[in-house]
Amino acid sequence: MNWDEEVICFYDKHTDIAIYGHAGGPFSPSSLTINSETNVESIIAACQRYKEQHWILDDTQTLYKGLSFEGLVALFKEKAPKAGIITPDLRAMYSGQRQAIICLAAEDLARRLASKCPQCQRANFVAKQLTKGLLCELCNMPTQQVKSTTSLCDCCGYNHIEANEKHVADATYCQFCNP
Ligand SMILES: [Zn+2]
Ligand SMILES: [Zn+2]
Repeated sequence: MNWDEEVICFYDKHTDIAIYGHAGGPFSPSSLTINSETNVESIIAACQRYKEQHWILDDTQTLYKGLSFEGLVALFKEKAPKAGIITPDLRAMYSGQRQAIICLAAEDLARRLASKCPQCQRANFVAKQLTKGLLCELCNMPTQQVKSTTSLCDCCGYNHIEANEKHVADATYCQFCNP
């Protein structure tokens, strides 16, 4: 399974400050190598389920880009290539899965723009550090669970530590109680 990472940058030229929204998620469409065995059925099996995805057909002579699934099948029937490759067209306007992740990155950026530092009012005052070590509910030893998060202002350095609402860790996550 491939992984898609999207980043959206907001740059304010008056303050020279850049804020980045991030998101990531699985990206499932993958390539299909064309050989003498490849037929419409193999293309349907490999590509049909990715509704919003467009495709590139490379028949070793020409690259046909931005093909819808129906367009891909029609072109394959027309050209009947015996070699080449079919790949997902990863340009954002042709990839529904990328668009969904880009939406999440935009939401992350919006959240950062709306979160103001209580001291200097600059944006991007969000949790930037995680401290692990929440204590186990049974044996009281530190676990890998998050104990607190720290919001930090990049401009004035103000920070705010917020303890995990759960004061103890489930013993499921304890290396001593449940190794
Ligand atoms: Zn600040
Ligand atoms: Zn424990």
